[in-house]
Amino acid sequence: MKTVPAFWFEPQPWIDGCWHRGTEPCAVRNPATGEILATVARADAALTARAIDSAAVALAAWKECPAAERGEILKRTAGLLISRRDAFARLLTAEQGKPWAQAAGEVDYAASFFQWFGEEARRVQGRIVPHPQAGREFLVEHRPAGVAGLITPWNFPLAQGAKKVAAALAAGCTAVWKPAEVTPLVALALAPLLAEAGLPAGVLQILPGQGSVIGPVLASHPAVAVLSLTGSTATGSGLMAAAAAGIKRVSLELGGNAPFIILPDADLELAANDLVRLKTFVSGQVCVTANRVFVHQSVEGLVIEKVAARLEALRVGNGLADGIDAGPLIHRGACDGVGALVAEAVADGARVVVANHSYLSDSALDTNAFFPPTLLSGVHDSMRLAREEIFGPVIPLLSYRTVADAVERANATPYGLAAYVYGADLARCRAVASRLEVGIVGVNEWRPLKAEIPFGGVKHSGIGAEGGEEGIREFLETRVVSMPKAGIEG
Ligand code: NAD
Repeated sequence: MKTVPAFWFEPQPWIDGCWHRGTEPCAVRNPATGEILATVARADAALTARAIDSAAVALAAWKECPAAERGEILKRTAGLLISRRDAFARLLTAEQGKPWAQAAGEVDYAASFFQWFGEEARRVQGRIVPHPQAGREFLVEHRPAGVAGLITPWNFPLAQGAKKVAAALAAGCTAVWKPAEVTPLVALALAPLLAEAGLPAGVLQILPGQGSVIGPVLASHPAVAVLSLTGSTATGSGLMAAAAAGIKRVSLELGGNAPFIILPDADLELAANDLVRLKTFVSGQVCVTANRVFVHQSVEGLVIEKVAARLEALRVGNGLADGIDAGPLIHRGACDGVGALVAEAVADGARVVVANHSYLSDSALDTNAFFPPTLLSGVHDSMRLAREEIFGPVIPLLSYRTVADAVERANATPYGLAAYVYGADLARCRAVASRLEVGIVGVNEWRPLKAEIPFGGVKHSGIGAEGGEEGIREFLETRVVSMPKAGIEG
């Protein structure tokens, strides 16, 4: 069994390069055991305003800091994160619940964004455009937008923050980052690393606290120019409305309802392996996880057999223990929500093929926070768990007869984040992928997200993108200077 590391940070707000006494103490628990990991002092509205003011003061020097220097700080942060992977991963597992190996993968994934945007910082280039009038020219410049308000969820508490922080800082913005209420520790743990990497005081503040308290201050403070949120569609819609009064830019990564389409010629071993991996990853609490599995009726029996065998073999338990495949959900309330979706589906005719309760054998666990990895057959489009994000380790199988029908049903949702297509005929996979109304499609691949590519949803799944060369643009504004061409006379 791995242990929770000794803290190298303080459980309180980080403002202007120092720890600040917060106002509302709040316990952070290990979801697997219920044990209290820390009592975190949260930021209230007054401290949030102060943090924004610090970011506004630091902006003047940071935006003039050479891009290569900003990039070096971010790349050093990536190196420091990798060198402390184990301590960060143990903290992440203790706070969030995901198994240590997944947490270690998240540390690497977070580091990849510091590395990527560290490199991208020096590629923010403008251009000179020919003027239609003689003797003049246009200069197109990309400038830092200003202070950025960054708000992240609890499922990837380190990586979601890294995507936003690295892009904002690379662009020359300063920032105030509010991590999720239940997972502030790993965010605060990043502060000393950034300082060690050379980040000047005031460039980033990290505020543990409530969305309903900190969010409205970020949305209304005149110094904040950009709001970037990863969270639920309801929270995104509310934040967008709050930002409208101040005409602030918003970048929103929101909820999903991803279809996973298994074509009749798919390699079923690969599809079953990847589907179970995808749905056990963070116990299905992932915006891009498969929410509806469309299986061609000719292979449905085989898919049920293969997926059931893999689900039954999973070891579910405390992510700090060795050999665990899936951990708890974030808290008991999350289990109740998933349980209600499954119960409704079963009452409506779905069948539970497998429900893996292996965690019940460990008496040290808070078993109320665990949900059994479950395979459901006979699911219909009208059931609530096919229409809403399940956010749990439940695999709902929906049968289809024609590929056109599967595509039409896959698109029949207000969400448009991710999709998966499994098949042997790559031309057909490509044709299916190009008809799906989503931001990213994995063809015979369960986790296509990487720092090198833009990731963002369409429809109710969001606005804007993270990663790729697009990610930094969320934090830049464009300015055009139209001017006479200089002569060479003295
Ligand atoms: P959530 O919307 O409840 O919370 C997300 C963040 O928003 C938290 O930090 C929360 O404190 C904050 N918040 C809450 N109310 C706020 C307000 N009024 N103003 C400003 N901020 C506020 O979501 P969650 O439960 O933490 O995360 C799960 C959701 O996030 C799911 O819907 C999931 O699909 C989505 N998600 C999306 C992506 C993506 O990239 N598209 C990635 C991960 C999670």
